[in-house]
Amino acid sequence: MASKRDYYEILGIKRDASERDIATAYRKLAVKFHPDSNPGNAEAVEKFKEAAEAYEILSDREKRARYDQFGHAGTDQFTHQFHDVEDIFEAFGDIFSEMFGGRRRGGGRRVRRGADLRVDVTLTLEEAAKGASKTVEFERSKACTTCKGTGSKPGAERARCRHCGGHGQIVQSAGILRVQTTCPTCQGAGSVVTDPCTDCRGRGYVQERAKLDVTIPPGVDNGMRVRLTGYGEPSPDGGPPGDCYCFVAVLKHKLFEREGNHLILRMPISYSQAALGASIEVPTLAGPHELKVPAGTQSGDVFRVRGRGMPDPRGGSAGDLHVQTYIEVPKKMTARQEKLLRELADVENTEVSPHRKSFLERLKEYFTTGEALETTTKE
Ligand SMILES: [Zn+2]
Ligand SMILES: [Zn+2]
Repeated sequence: MASKRDYYEILGIKRDASERDIATAYRKLAVKFHPDSNPGNAEAVEKFKEAAEAYEILSDREKRARYDQFGHAGTDQFTHQFHDVEDIFEAFGDIFSEMFGGRRRGGGRRVRRGADLRVDVTLTLEEAAKGASKTVEFERSKACTTCKGTGSKPGAERARCRHCGGHGQIVQSAGILRVQTTCPTCQGAGSVVTDPCTDCRGRGYVQERAKLDVTIPPGVDNGMRVRLTGYGEPSPDGGPPGDCYCFVAVLKHKLFEREGNHLILRMPISYSQAALGASIEVPTLAGPHELKVPAGTQSGDVFRVRGRGMPDPRGGSAGDLHVQTYIEVPKKMTARQEKLLRELADVENTEVSPHRKSFLERLKEYFTTGEALETTTKE
């Protein structure tokens, strides 16, 4: 992708321009590069589209704020790809009707965009964190090379469509209503194939297997899409092609659970580590990290490691890693471990720690005040 120009630079305004300045600057550019004043000038069309995109973001207070903070990365998800100039007229109808007195541009027939396609891309969590380059393959139509998309055998003539008499449109009457629609026989072309091309059986297009490299930005999550502009189906009538959308699926990770941009890790620690405090090595996507667990850590306590979550796909700050500890009870012990633990149990029987004491007291209270009785008899 070519690097995008700064929106303020495109509109030729300062970063603190008022909403009115933005509209004025855009109007000036729209008049200057308007396709009616620049027939056949592809560069003017590009400038016209560029200005429309800049205006679309900067004229919206919220999108402008995101753009100011994160640049293009912050707003690319909102930018509407203007496939053709007609799209711009549709999106900003009001500003144009003001300018051109409601006149709709051109009298020509509106061409249709090709259909969008979908492909699926599966990533590991590590790939999602770093960003990845993936090759995707999908089926797509392309114009038949034998007949150059006409559908007729080379040299064969198309015949005038009998259904619409070559107009491409038919008029249907229903009472006093007269509705003009595209001819269903020739799909608006006005002519039909009489001697079909053998390679595409008269359809004018064949299926091809497209292979593309897709760059997936860091931080993507399940369900996000990456748009490959112009890689969809071709237009049936000479318009722009559709887009191809890569839907991202991120595989479940063995250790980390994802919550937005944060990662959660359940980390086992021993009873002695929890009681006495310890320095433990925790895994992160960027390699091991040393975490200090203080004395008296409880099962379920959460420690935050800042910035070790997932990067923000929109250019914001990275998420954190939340390490949730739980105390792992050993299933097997050495004789010495068992001996020490039995000694500990002996000590605990005579000398109960404050936390445990209060729990036992609460338990005693529960049974002596009749609270338990109350709850069981109450209907
Ligand atoms: Zn063909
Ligand atoms: Zn027809």
